Amino acid sequence: MSNLDREAVPALCGGRGFVVAEPVRELLSPRRVKLGESTEVRRLLPNLGRRMVGAWCFVDHYGPDDIADEPGMQVPPHPHMGLQTVSWLHEGEVLHRDSTGSLQTIRPRELGLMTSGRAISHSEESPRSHARLLHGAQLWVALPDSHRHTDPRFEHHGELPVVTAPGLDATLILGSVDGATSPGTTYTPIVGADLALAQGADVRLPLEPDFEYAVLSMSGEAHVDGVPVLPGSMLYLGCGRTELPLRAESDAALMLLGGEPFEEELIMWWNFIGRTNADIEQARQDWTVGSRFGEVKGYDGDPLAAPDLPPVPLKPRGRVR
Ligand code: MN
Repeated sequence: MSNLDREAVPALCGGRGFVVAEPVRELLSPRRVKLGESTEVRRLLPNLGRRMVGAWCFVDHYGPDDIADEPGMQVPPHPHMGLQTVSWLHEGEVLHRDSTGSLQTIRPRELGLMTSGRAISHSEESPRSHARLLHGAQLWVALPDSHRHTDPRFEHHGELPVVTAPGLDATLILGSVDGATSPGTTYTPIVGADLALAQGADVRLPLEPDFEYAVLSMSGEAHVDGVPVLPGSMLYLGCGRTELPLRAESDAALMLLGGEPFEEELIMWWNFIGRTNADIEQARQDWTVGSRFGEVKGYDGDPLAAPDLPPVPLKPRGRVR
């Protein structure tokens, strides 16, 4: 998905200044963002008080929306730089096309992982014939400086490892939980897992004390470390935990997001992540003149135009609230 927010407010991210070293329970409310005419998403990252969780730097939760009589998701070709995108569905399907020639339908609990490296462009749409409901999350992972100029590539993993405990199925999206590892390519120590909880489940999930974590609620009624987290909200958990208590009042679905705190400072603007203002200006210019980001073939419509850059130059810095 694209950041279609026309305000395109720059976010200055990363650095140790944000990270909470000890366990905390910080409930993050979503910001409602309109994508096009009909779709509204709940944006959890970047959030007013929190910009990243490990290398996770962008989290939108959408649906479940009834799109039986609507076109559904229609995101025209747009560019990315310096990040990976993760498409994760609970209902429906998304047709992905990109400038490396990928054409892939992504279905519930399959991993669509796009590494932009220095430049990629893609489109995402509900297929013409689609399921009634569309429900999912769109997430971005920042690439470290050592890999942000890598070649663009797209991975689709239809089969992912699942860790089970009584009342819990944990599907590995990225990284590892309890010895099971996702096949998705990662560039920093990171984890993403889909946690399907059965009503009455009362479990403890093993965590890495060096990682910071957050849990996004997708559906149902669950308590995370004793805190009720409603669908569309996210609980930031800090670092220093070896396990996480989870309890489900009804069947519920959560997403665990975590990773080693991201030390580098970043500038995130529109669909780009850079290190300097010049990185961002150059990417915007290249997309506008049609160079570097390649071409998405087969999408019925025009590419997205980049919004205007804000008049004040962007600077990465440490602690920003
Ligand atoms: Mn996108």
